[in-house]
Amino acid sequence: MLRRSILLGLSLFVVGPLQAAEVNLYSARQENLIKPLLDQFTEKTGVKVNLVAGKADALLQRLQTEGRNSPADVLLTVDAGRLHRAVAAELTQTVDSELLNDVIPSQYRDPDGHWFGLSLRARPIMYAKDRVKPSELSTYEDLADAKWKGRVCIRSSGNIYNQSLVASMLAADGLGSVQSWADGFVKNFARPPAGGDRDQLKAAAAGQCDVAVANTYYLVTMHQSSDEAQREAANQMAVFWPNQDGRGAHVNVSGAAMLKSSKNTDEAVQLIEFLASEDAQRWYADKNGEYPVRAGVPMSDLLASWGEFKADDVNMRELGRFNAEAVRLMDRAGWR
Ligand code: FE
Repeated sequence: MLRRSILLGLSLFVVGPLQAAEVNLYSARQENLIKPLLDQFTEKTGVKVNLVAGKADALLQRLQTEGRNSPADVLLTVDAGRLHRAVAAELTQTVDSELLNDVIPSQYRDPDGHWFGLSLRARPIMYAKDRVKPSELSTYEDLADAKWKGRVCIRSSGNIYNQSLVASMLAADGLGSVQSWADGFVKNFARPPAGGDRDQLKAAAAGQCDVAVANTYYLVTMHQSSDEAQREAANQMAVFWPNQDGRGAHVNVSGAAMLKSSKNTDEAVQLIEFLASEDAQRWYADKNGEYPVRAGVPMSDLLASWGEFKADDVNMRELGRFNAEAVRLMDRAGWR
């Protein structure tokens, strides 16, 4: 007992006053879409979160530049393709958390524990209600059919969402058939790709094309916009869930990874586990117009109004593995 207190006293003397627990988070999510959740985490655990918010690719670049001296403990970013890039750049370390492995379905986390999906985004086909009947639609693959000539809007192939969509097709269909699909699909574009997902939806609403491929949360933000023109455009569009008789609609994740540079590993795991908790899942998904990654957590009313759907259950890591091949394939097809 005496010996223990001497040791304790000595270690306090050596280490100095105890530092408050903290965790450094690099986040590609906008501050207002994550900050209230981080405050809740601090309130609950006493762990302070130092938030660095930035653009996804810039944060990856920054982590590479900082290397092992980076103060970052956790990276929060969107798209499995980007999480894969962080792993490939050897920026991450594995987390072995029974809780995370338990509550996050296996297809939405890295099999080795390098990253964990925290919300789901779906990328279905959306159509102009006055020009397209849902019965005309079926699969992503069918959008290469000549009946869609000049009727398709989609953003550029430089965008990771499309790279991941094509990667999911490669995982399902193989190179030969996806290449001929892309060759036909590009011929059906109504215009050279320009702008983001929201711009494709606006173009379809304005009659420049009849169908668009876009992430659902963009349609959510258009419906919730203070701009009447955006709300009107959103009202002209409807969601079609493709590939329901096959592998399911393409989904992707936003997710978190613990960084190799982390010096606060316990707090890092605590934070990721908190973000996977039921309450956090509901808030985070709602706030971002996304789906909870965790089963049994209700989705927002607007998302629910677009119906339940079967999601492609390919492991998200495959989207990263097939990324380079997807980029080359789209390039050969002339998808700008
Ligand atoms: Fe986005």
